[in-house]
Parts: sequence; structure tokens; C-alpha cells
Amino acid sequence: MTCEIRLEQLSALMAGDLDAAEAQSLRQHIGQCPVCAAAVERLQEIDKKVRAAADRSVPLEIIQRTRQVIHAAVRQPPLPEILTLDEVGQYVRLTPSQLGQMLEHLPSFTVAGEVRIRRDRLTQWIKDQEQQAVRDRVRSQAARSIRMAFEQGIAS
Ligand SMILES: [Zn+2]
Repeated sequence: MTCEIRLEQLSALMAGDLDAAEAQSLRQHIGQCPVCAAAVERLQEIDKKVRAAADRSVPLEIIQRTRQVIHAAVRQPPLPEILTLDEVGQYVRLTPSQLGQMLEHLPSFTVAGEVRIRRDRLTQWIKDQEQQAVRDRVRSQAARSIRMAFEQGIAS
């Protein structure tokens, strides 16, 4: 079951940012919509945790900012299984031109001329790249130690 109401609106209601008429009609909707009721419950849980975690000495502004950041994180839609290049760019924080340069290295495939990448393959690819980077670093350190030992051997 889905609902047209966005989490932003629910969050705004809870923050008291809606005018009386909007708040009234949204509250009425929440009373009848299990999707929104569950979302409001989740947001209330978050607010409770933020309040509990907030020390009395923490300025209200920082508490509110924290609340905004956490609400924003909850709103992030989950990534689909198959990603477009734009979505990959957002995910790995690269510009389209940076992505284009490394496209041949990415686990991509083409659907009707459009590049697509499976999310699980991309995640695995990123892990592989990180491990490769670690291996390369270890290898170059080993090579340096061997070279230094060799040079010292020649010198002495
Ligand atoms: Zn709803």
C-alpha cells in the first residue's frame, strides 16, 4: 500500500510549520491512512531519541538541526536494484564526466542504448577496488623495503 503524502509534509506538520487548515486536513488523513500513521510513529520515535540524547546545555538550534538531518536521512528513498548512470553518480559522488572516464571499468550493461549498472555488482566492485588499493599499498611498501635493503647491502 502506498500513499501520495510525502514525508516532508508529515515532518512539517510535526514541526508546526503547516498553517491551521493544512495541519487539520493532514491530521484527518493520518487518522485514516495506515502508511502515514506508521511514518508519523517512526518520526516521533526519532524525535524522542534526539530529545533524549540532547543535553540541556545543547542549544535548541543544534537540536533542531540534528532533527532535520535525521528526518532527511529517513526520507532518502532506497536505491533501486538497477541503477542509471545518474543514480550511480549520486551514489558514488562523481560527476557524469568523471563517471564517463571510468565507465569501461564499471560492471555496466546496456539496455536499449542506455547504460545500466546493477547495484549489488556496483557495491561488490567498490569493495574490490578498495581491497585492490590496499593490496597495491602493501605491495609498494614491500617493494620499497626490499629496494632499501638491497641498496643498503650494496652500500655496506
Ligand atoms: Zn497517507
